Amino acid sequence: MTTNQLTYISTRGKAPAVSGPEAIRNGIAPDGGLYVPSRIPVFGKEELESLAGATYNETALAVLRKYLPELQESDIETCIRDAYRPFGEEPVRLVPVDGRMTALELWHGPTSAFKDMALQLFPRLLSVCKRFSGSAERTWILTATSGDTGKAALEGFRDVPGTSVFVIYPDGGVSPMQELQMRTQEGGNVDVCAVRGNFDDAQSAVKKLFADRELSARLAGKGIRLSSANSINWGRLLPQIVYYVYASLKSVRTYGMPVPFVVPTGNFGNILAGYFARRMGCPVGRLFCASNRNDVLKDFFTTGVYNRKRSFYKTASPSMDILVSSNLERLLYLETGDPEQVSGWMNELNENGEYAIPDGLHARLSESFGCGSASDEEAFGAIRACFEGHGYLMDPHTAVGYAAYLKEYGKAETGPFILVSTASPYKFAPSVLQALNGENAEGSEAVSKLEKQSGLRVPDSLASLFQKPVRFSDKVGPENVAEALRDRLISRSEKC
Ligand SMILES: *Cc1c(COP(=O)(O)O)cnc(C)c1O
Repeated sequence: MTTNQLTYISTRGKAPAVSGPEAIRNGIAPDGGLYVPSRIPVFGKEELESLAGATYNETALAVLRKYLPELQESDIETCIRDAYRPFGEEPVRLVPVDGRMTALELWHGPTSAFKDMALQLFPRLLSVCKRFSGSAERTWILTATSGDTGKAALEGFRDVPGTSVFVIYPDGGVSPMQELQMRTQEGGNVDVCAVRGNFDDAQSAVKKLFADRELSARLAGKGIRLSSANSINWGRLLPQIVYYVYASLKSVRTYGMPVPFVVPTGNFGNILAGYFARRMGCPVGRLFCASNRNDVLKDFFTTGVYNRKRSFYKTASPSMDILVSSNLERLLYLETGDPEQVSGWMNELNENGEYAIPDGLHARLSESFGCGSASDEEAFGAIRACFEGHGYLMDPHTAVGYAAYLKEYGKAETGPFILVSTASPYKFAPSVLQALNGENAEGSEAVSKLEKQSGLRVPDSLASLFQKPVRFSDKVGPENVAEALRDRLISRSEKC
């Protein structure tokens, strides 16, 4: 390989280094680790100066070229243009809320949640990567979802040539709005199915199918590879770096200094993208990791011990209800460069449910990351206070970030900061309505009540949702979920 090229290595150190396109095709590394670039590319002073005035799509091209130097620039450009076309003129918006806080709105895509930022671009990049590698394989995306990822994956992969997407969700375990979004999904290469059980049942069925060698062999015989749409794939993380580069360069001009980013966190993908942007030389201030009542990350950054042996709570910010944050593994590798140590910690986590990092590393992480948490009650209070005080409406995830940050730093002394806003308030209309005035309503009723109360425009995709025909209503389980899904995959593959 020439020096211009970048390789990707596994955080566990037992898989061969691969090119970026191959890392994206593989998803997870064969040793069970996650792919990271062997070195983090850095923007020079002049590049940063020219990026300060760049559009979002120009910024995306500059970032992606650094990480995927072997791809044709024009191919990357086309992916970016097609991915962000549905977002309107500005894919992301920086909205000043008061003198201190600017909201970075990442939810102007087709499903009204920030996962669109990555999941609109990732399928297109995957197609280019396959073409680059001369691969004719079909990719079948199989994903268990507790809400936002499923819909964003369906929308992102819908009708992308060479791909199919199959989403399963726990029956009764996602919000009625999220369920309707999935059941009315359009496209010729999509499939949706409910599982009688909870999210863990759905997730473990998917894991079983990924580990089923006979199934992989059978699908491989048809030229099909199973893959996943969650943020363990480098192709899903990479697009997220872009908005930190973009927002940090814009905000440093406003404030004259790098400002902190407050990030509502679940799987640690979003906030890790901010860390990459900073390591690339961008003026990203401290990264504040906000958790809901499932505050395993807050405890980790506070004590240096990751302990998943605790109760799991269902909260009003379901996309942050996570006890094992996969992408933390990438941070540990990037900070230590020691795959043996990282593998050891991940084994301990698997076997004993916890691991502890050394003091030196803990101190280093504490310099880069702040942390805090907020309960549903605190988040709802924040939604109301922010709307009454500033006329700005937040969804429950974003509100966890806001409440946790102000709690930690106190209202009076807080300097300027950027609040990463991860979903449209309409996506969680019943909770937001409740937070505002204690009213209970569901579905379209909640949406129209919230519209009356807030005066905020309902995103088109959510406004039309209640008129769409339901296309999917199958349920499987509670017994033999994996077998039922397996049969479904095989019968589809036979039609290929
Ligand atoms: C997925 C999600 C999050 C958490 O993001 P991670 O990358 O998993 O940390 C926060 N808010 C919303 C609305 C989400 O959909």
